[in-house]
Amino acid sequence: MYGRWAAVKPKTFDRNLIVIGGGAAGLVSAYIAAAVKAKVTLIEANKMGGDCLNYGCVPSKALIKSAKLAHQMQHAAHYGLASSTPQFSFRGVMQRVTDVIKQVAPHDSIERYTALGVDVVEGYATVVNPWTVEIKDKTGQTRTLTTRSIVIAAGAKPLVPALPGLDDVGYLTSDTLWHALSQYADIPKRMVVLGGGPIGCELTQAFARLGSRVTQIEMSPRLLVREDADVSSLVERELRLDGVDVLTAHQAIRCEWQGTEKVIVVSHAGTERAIPFDELICAVGRQARLTGYGLEALGVPTDRTIETDAYLQTIYPNIYAAGDVAGPYQFTHTAAHQAWYATVNALFGDFKRFAADYRVIPWATFVDPEVARVGLNEQSAKALGIPYEVTRFALEDLDRAITDSETKGFIKVLTPPGKDRILGVTIVGAHASDTLAEYVLAMKKGLGLNQILGTIHTYPTMAEANKYVAGEWKRAHAPARLLALLERFHTWRRH
Ligand SMILES: Cc1cc2nc3c(=O)[nH]c(=O)nc-3n(C[C@H](O)[C@H](O)[C@H](O)COP(=O)(O)OP(=O)(O)OC[C@H]3O[C@@H](n4cnc5c(N)ncnc54)[C@H](O)[C@@H]3O)c2cc1C
Repeated sequence: MYGRWAAVKPKTFDRNLIVIGGGAAGLVSAYIAAAVKAKVTLIEANKMGGDCLNYGCVPSKALIKSAKLAHQMQHAAHYGLASSTPQFSFRGVMQRVTDVIKQVAPHDSIERYTALGVDVVEGYATVVNPWTVEIKDKTGQTRTLTTRSIVIAAGAKPLVPALPGLDDVGYLTSDTLWHALSQYADIPKRMVVLGGGPIGCELTQAFARLGSRVTQIEMSPRLLVREDADVSSLVERELRLDGVDVLTAHQAIRCEWQGTEKVIVVSHAGTERAIPFDELICAVGRQARLTGYGLEALGVPTDRTIETDAYLQTIYPNIYAAGDVAGPYQFTHTAAHQAWYATVNALFGDFKRFAADYRVIPWATFVDPEVARVGLNEQSAKALGIPYEVTRFALEDLDRAITDSETKGFIKVLTPPGKDRILGVTIVGAHASDTLAEYVLAMKKGLGLNQILGTIHTYPTMAEANKYVAGEWKRAHAPARLLALLERFHTWRRH
């Protein structure tokens, strides 16, 4: 691959590593490089912290918290208090979201990373050859730096569907909605959320709970299609209880103005219907940033993401990719995980290389109740032809869930037939994203349900459900012949 670049290969390098992008993947790459005393430059064109801090995880979770509180006030009678309609200014809610971002921002700031030993540069990076990166700053000035290795951590951007009329009526995405909605004194009365994936479901529920009449449109027959059908139906039921008009198996056809109203026309079972709205949010997925910064000229193969091998290396062995731009996962924690491999391989790969380990990947959708998963669920086990048994425990039988009136949901554990090894776990319930952690460790360390059963869990906690589901598994696998023998033994001892 280097043949055509031989003439421009520098004899010495300005840097050991240049990292393109200051989101989760880029920050972790730069952090690790600086920690092991490499000379590293991190280049960020927009905002330090990337999607997660500025447009993703942090603002969405802040919004969800306010929405949940509003919901609890409306349902306070559930807890023996007087239900009330929460009095609030939407502007205040959105201001809190901005404040939360500001509070987290120092963790990802130029100051912090500079103090850690990273050379942070604000500007747009272009890879001009395998060892040279050009940086254009905000004033249009450019400079170049040479480097032994590069980690591309350029992230992803919202996918905007090719829907006729969409540009005419206008739309928001996760990139624009936080700023746009912070300009509103009151929440838009009628919102449409296009997309029934995790981001769509989280935003739908939050806006509905804050008082908007939300219509959620999803082409597939159910929400959260990567999860099992029982999970999707529970989430859909909850969204409906929050007042959302959930339209699954509905295809968006076009957007248009009808008089002074903006509408989206959807089709379902051959019938079209127009839904008027004040704001439309596109949440139909995110696509890796693959163009405009040199990959094309270098001939780095891309499909939906940058193509990398198990070591996160592109076809140029000194150029690596990590995070959303590398896929296949689109999470902050997988971006950080990949960043470790990309950086360590970039800096030390000549001596020892590490293949990225994707065996145990957890994730969560922060709807209420939360949905969390690690490993296989039923539909993925079936698709892979992996035999499994299911053990379930309903949260309605858990003391802590009852004390908190948070009994909706279940834990579902998949194990190989007759064995306690954990193939995968789905939890639907309050704090599912936290409760999942025990299984993530168990799977990582090869611990089975017997070990979880033999572990003391604090009473009363949601985590105790992990022990109870292990107990369910044990009961179902009790040694029947041995128990019959024991019964005879005890009978004999009584005589
Ligand atoms: C609404 C929403 C909610 C989410 N919630 C969660 C959640 O709860 N949990 C979770 O794990 N994940 C969540 N995610 C996903 C998470 O935000 C991403 O997976 C994560 O941010 C990916 O990090 P990254 O470093 O790969 O990319 P990014 O964070 O996108 O960072 C890439 C950076 O590269 C910069 N860049 C790109 N090209 C150049 C260039 N040529 N020169 C210089 N800089 C460049 C960009 O400006 C950007 O800042 C959410 C996402 C959204 C949109």
